[in-house]
Amino acid sequence: MQNRVFQRRATFLPFSPPAISEEEIAAVVDTLRSDWITTGPKTKQFEQLFAEYIGAPAALALNSCTGGLHIALAALGIGAGDEVITTPLTFICSANVIEHVGAVPILADVEPETLTIDPEQVAAKLTPRTRAIMPVHFAGHPAEMRPLWELAAQHRMAVIEDAAHALPAKYEGRVIGTLGDFTAFSFYATKNLTTAEGGMLTGAPERIAEARLWSLHGMNRDAWKRYSSEGSWYYEVVVPGFKYNMTDIQAAIGIVQLKRLAAFQARRRAIVAQYQAAFSNLEAVQVPTERANVEHAWHLYTLRLNLEQLRITRAQFIEELRARNIATSVHFIPVHLHPYYRNRYGWRPEDFPIAYREYQRLISLPLHPRLSDADVADVINAVYDVAAAFRR
Ligand SMILES: *Cc1c(COP(=O)(O)O)cnc(C)c1O
Repeated sequence: MQNRVFQRRATFLPFSPPAISEEEIAAVVDTLRSDWITTGPKTKQFEQLFAEYIGAPAALALNSCTGGLHIALAALGIGAGDEVITTPLTFICSANVIEHVGAVPILADVEPETLTIDPEQVAAKLTPRTRAIMPVHFAGHPAEMRPLWELAAQHRMAVIEDAAHALPAKYEGRVIGTLGDFTAFSFYATKNLTTAEGGMLTGAPERIAEARLWSLHGMNRDAWKRYSSEGSWYYEVVVPGFKYNMTDIQAAIGIVQLKRLAAFQARRRAIVAQYQAAFSNLEAVQVPTERANVEHAWHLYTLRLNLEQLRITRAQFIEELRARNIATSVHFIPVHLHPYYRNRYGWRPEDFPIAYREYQRLISLPLHPRLSDADVADVINAVYDVAAAFRR
């Protein structure tokens, strides 16, 4: 491959366009014509189908994963004076929601191999105020959950999983979304399943019932059934809830996407196999791993550049790929580098050395079911070409 003459592809290859077919379009139109466009029968059906698909006892459809993480904290009564431990290598909402409930985010550095939260670092950060651990299944690779569950049981803490990348994934043969106190999935436009914007929270039925209250103004719609002979117009507000409900327009997309998910995942895995085969032989990069005890959801395909072998930085590598018509991204700018968190908690880059070091060499390549084998070959050739051109 190194000896081949490089051919720049004719058109720009986008990073992660959604896979929307005529079936999703028809489902949206059908919903618009149905006279029920916000939360209604399609949302209920999507919740049931999703819960069945992953084997979760209950599911709550929402307008985002962020909202799901927020109400998980609220439903557990976590707030002022409490601490929640999460990872620095995540999308910022994982930390923001902890701030939203008035608790303090505590960061525990990641494992170098998987870039998921390191249970030993979590153990080192426990205090009597720690109420929950929020692991992120980075790129779709489940975090090492067994030691986290043990810590949670010993210290009476909740486990709230950020599974925005982990649909569908397994840890020790068990499906992510069926394991913790709460698990939040994202259906944002780039995720493995999309509803444009959207999310799903899974957990035990009584926990999901509590979260449901928090998700829609704290309105208890069952109140009239139990306590009064009033009609269905009657409700009682029992907590100061939020406005995070999913619409039937979104659910209509989700129902179709769920039918297509297995095929999406098969295509993702086939692409990953091509990437792994090609990049395992390239000295300038380190390929991602899939531990034996997990099934990876492969939301992201992340390379780590071996910068000591290159004459350019990660940012320049990205520019060189862009010049070759290949879009890439970086997941993620660590939480502790953002000005709000840096200033509020006085965090320095080296406070979380693994996250900081790996961040500087991370690059995410296009990975989505619409990529053709020719597209994948273009990505591989472009990476090889940049690596060869800027070899030290
Ligand atoms: C996308 C993402 C989220 C947020 O999902 P939304 O549905 O946009 O709120 C949360 N965590 C991680 C790790 C993500 O990548």
